[in-house]
Amino acid sequence: MDQIKLSAYKQNLERERLLLIAEVKSHEKPVDYGTDTEDREEEVDKEVAFSNELAIAQDLKNRLEEIDVALGKIYSGKYGLCEKCGGAIEDGVLVNDPASRLCKHCGTAA
Ligand SMILES: [Zn+2]
Repeated sequence: MDQIKLSAYKQNLERERLLLIAEVKSHEKPVDYGTDTEDREEEVDKEVAFSNELAIAQDLKNRLEEIDVALGKIYSGKYGLCEKCGGAIEDGVLVNDPASRLCKHCGTAA
């Protein structure tokens, strides 16, 4: 893959990575546990809301891992190769998702 394309994908990955880190932080923060006296029902609502937040944070972390894997491949010179067939992943696939692990054929064959 040529260096210009590679550095563009790398930039996209790094930008998304920073956004994800910030987002994970915002979702892991407990939702406003006020000091006012609250009824039990309201507290349960808040606990549910918080566990939803954690689930979202977990999804974001999974995505973050994929991005780290892709960045690792850039550093090891293996970026853009399909994990299944070893062929080059099409630019269209990488533009859509720079963390893609599979080429168009293998990604749709599943
Ligand atoms: Zn493939």
